[in-house]
Amino acid sequence: MSRPQPHHQVDERFVQRMQERLGPESDSFFSTLESESPTSILINPAKAPGDAFENADPVPWCKAGRYLGKRPEFVFDPLFHAGCYYVMEASSMFIHHAISSLLQKEKPICVLDLCAAPGGKSAVALSCIPPGSVLVSNEVNKSRFQTLQFNIDKWGEPNVIRTCLDPGRIPWTGLFDLILVDAPCSGEGLFRKDKEARAEWSPANVTHCSARQRRILMEAQRLLAPGGYLIYSTCTYAEEENIQQVLWMAKEFSLIAKPLLVPDEWKVTTMTNGNSIGYQFYPHRVYGEGFFCAIMQKPADSPGYVATSNRSLRGYKPIVVETTFPKALTNWIKWDDSKGSLRFFESIDKEVYALQSSIDHDWLSHGLVRYPGVEIGNIKGASVPREIGLTFSPSHALALSQLLSDEMPSIELELEQAIRFLRKESVSTESGSPGWKVARYKGFALGWLKQTQAGLKNYLPTKYRIIKQQVK
Ligand code: SAM
Repeated sequence: MSRPQPHHQVDERFVQRMQERLGPESDSFFSTLESESPTSILINPAKAPGDAFENADPVPWCKAGRYLGKRPEFVFDPLFHAGCYYVMEASSMFIHHAISSLLQKEKPICVLDLCAAPGGKSAVALSCIPPGSVLVSNEVNKSRFQTLQFNIDKWGEPNVIRTCLDPGRIPWTGLFDLILVDAPCSGEGLFRKDKEARAEWSPANVTHCSARQRRILMEAQRLLAPGGYLIYSTCTYAEEENIQQVLWMAKEFSLIAKPLLVPDEWKVTTMTNGNSIGYQFYPHRVYGEGFFCAIMQKPADSPGYVATSNRSLRGYKPIVVETTFPKALTNWIKWDDSKGSLRFFESIDKEVYALQSSIDHDWLSHGLVRYPGVEIGNIKGASVPREIGLTFSPSHALALSQLLSDEMPSIELELEQAIRFLRKESVSTESGSPGWKVARYKGFALGWLKQTQAGLKNYLPTKYRIIKQQVK
């Protein structure tokens, strides 16, 4: 069979596997791997940047998804830093269609994103779960957890709890109505844009990934509530990591594969094996990368939530406790009652967090939560009575959060000044009254400035500053 060059960089055994699967269509598949990847973004519904992407084509399976004709230098767009959108691969936005198809629109639910970093699927979930729901966003890898934290902060929703746990240590057995497992995989679907993924591929790695996915899936089904949904996804084509996992979940744990309505014009391929069903995205058929997604439901008569865990949780001490509303924050935050009640937590370092949701659950009892909601800021001098002598330093996350009060003084920056702010350089504006100000670009918050007698100080966290130089 003739096929276009070059795919000598792709392992010959992978070539063979895809030829067996796709037949003559594999030519088209392999030439697509040498073409340019589409650029796409997920627009944040809570920070929709007006007409900024008015002319961009929509992603068919995600109403907040847009294709951009040309890849911009996102790092120099302040709206990117404000969390108005997230740069995300288009096929994987199918999760939006899956979640929207499964849920009743009004009932708040408990959601877990088990393999969450860098945060794309969490952002998708936050865009379509009902108001009042809560999302536990978990990432086992500590350095990737930092990226997740940053991206969740930028998205700005106040209903996200963050944990950094191996799935086996997550204590909330039977609690979650919806679990996303976007599993670590052999990455075949990324061969177009990630040439390193090609080099790392081997049949042994597919086997290794498949075994790891089963360990994660076993924990996911434990954590699911009776009748709850599991959305399993990978960015690979290997059946051992895809439809065979769905089959295995049905056999081992009686999970029922759920079909979705998928219009033919989307050109998504339905994969079946017995009663198992899943959806495969091929880059030569859809405008996106390789992706697989399947939905499974836990039988409604499975055992429900177990309030206490008998797992060994030694070594964990509570680092945060629930607290009453700190009055010092009255002017700083706002809330919208339709999204549930606001709860406050305080760490031993006097860091205050706020969580808004209608789900009433004791998240702190195991001492495993790293971020119980939005980090609001630090309250110092909290002696008794607490409200006397308090000074409050707002956190960067509060500036980007929906909890930020509209009454906070702001400074609107033009593009050049906004970039200076994002480089953590000084910004020159007319001096105003002393105190904290929100730095904004086109109305969207970027972080904090503080006016003192010495001038206007830039409080952007150093780790988030732009370092890259712009080529003019
Ligand atoms: N859902 C993410 C998104 O949309 O941005 C991408 C997730 S990525 C495909 C898979 C994640 O699983 C990685 O962040 C990786 O660190 C994590 N992971 C690796 N091994 C794991 C394990 N044994 N249990 C849980 N997660 C694991």
